[in-house]
Amino acid sequence: MPKNKGKQVVSKQVSNLSKKLSQGNYAIARGLFLDALDLADNAKFQIEHKEHPINNEKDPTGKNDLFIDTALLGSPDAKRLLVLVSGTHGVEFYAGCGIQVAYLHQLASGKMTLPKDTAILFIHAANPFGAAWSSRFTEDNIDLNRNFCEHPVRQRNLGYDGLAPAFEKHIYQWWQHPIFLLSLIVIVCQLAVSYLKSNYYYRDPSLFRDGEPFRKQQRSTQSGQYHYPNGLFFGGFAPAKSNTLLRKIVDQYCLDAEEIVFFDIHTGLGKKGDLDIIHAAIDIAKDTSLSRCDAIFGPGRVSSSKAGRKSTSEVSVGKLPSGLLTQIVKQQQKQKGTTPTCTGVTLEFGTYPEVGTFLALWARNLQACDENTQKISGELCKQVFKQFFCVDDAQWLQGIIDKSFEVIQQTTDYLSEKESESSSQSSKFVNRAI
Ligand SMILES: [Zn+2]
Repeated sequence: MPKNKGKQVVSKQVSNLSKKLSQGNYAIARGLFLDALDLADNAKFQIEHKEHPINNEKDPTGKNDLFIDTALLGSPDAKRLLVLVSGTHGVEFYAGCGIQVAYLHQLASGKMTLPKDTAILFIHAANPFGAAWSSRFTEDNIDLNRNFCEHPVRQRNLGYDGLAPAFEKHIYQWWQHPIFLLSLIVIVCQLAVSYLKSNYYYRDPSLFRDGEPFRKQQRSTQSGQYHYPNGLFFGGFAPAKSNTLLRKIVDQYCLDAEEIVFFDIHTGLGKKGDLDIIHAAIDIAKDTSLSRCDAIFGPGRVSSSKAGRKSTSEVSVGKLPSGLLTQIVKQQQKQKGTTPTCTGVTLEFGTYPEVGTFLALWARNLQACDENTQKISGELCKQVFKQFFCVDDAQWLQGIIDKSFEVIQQTTDYLSEKESESSSQSSKFVNRAI
């Protein structure tokens, strides 16, 4: 029997990429992206580096500024536009960057091409602070994916409310305490009590009957909250700086296309290496994007808690992650009087069991919110945390790259078909006119 049966074949290029991304830092990953643009002939791209305006803050080395980089390939007037975003959740940027770099290599080699009258916009490191400082959140501890909404959000996340005390930094100083283990036990007990309390008092008791109460609770918690600025999954009191910059980017690049397909790359939920394509519903009167997802990726392939399809992501509190897409539709309507056909999905790749990822987030948040613990746990904590979102394993990276290529190919096939349909319709019209 062949020795590597069932094992992913890893190209040398991806093997190098994996090492640099999982062991490198923001500046190294950004260099890989800029080099890939060079390789794909950057003269063909419209490239911009939007400096992130956070009080001149730099990456942890103190040498590099922080940017959201954008690169548009194709005509700015193209009818159809693909958007590929990395790093909405800071630390998840490394995997997203790997996919963007690998796709640029495919374009450079001509192995993958774009259909006629189609452009692609790369948005690299949507939350550069989180990317550089190995945090899921922004410089203001905001979860960017829960920030694209009308502020202030008054709706409470009752599942989170029950657990909130366990996430507040001022309660524990156990990183620096000799009786660390005892504190840990107290925390676990408090988590358990809070969990039971929040379920019994606030939530549907049927959660206990579906066989995965912890997972349900955890997912309800991560669906976002707007009342605990030091806690986890905080959606903010106002738009974060990255949010403002991203809105400017979509206003600049996305208002002319008639059809837009939007990919936001994430990691950390689901089985290691698995891809969950999650529908991003758009907050407009008749959102038909889920049926388009079925047409592009196959019936039922795209998950959606909102539509009752099993998903790694729970329905969020408020009108959330697809706020950027909603912005595109509304801005186009306002400025041009046209309504684009927008379809958005999150590409969510699994890394480690979710309990581990969740606890890592919790520990990292305590560390980020407390200067004393930052000094003590420092870089090591950040590096360990990063592993939960960018696995140091070339096979894993190769797997997620291949899966991304597959969904991009499905999208370009769909757009090609639409292109040939519309050109055959216009040629019919011409024939009739003759
Ligand atoms: Zn994410």
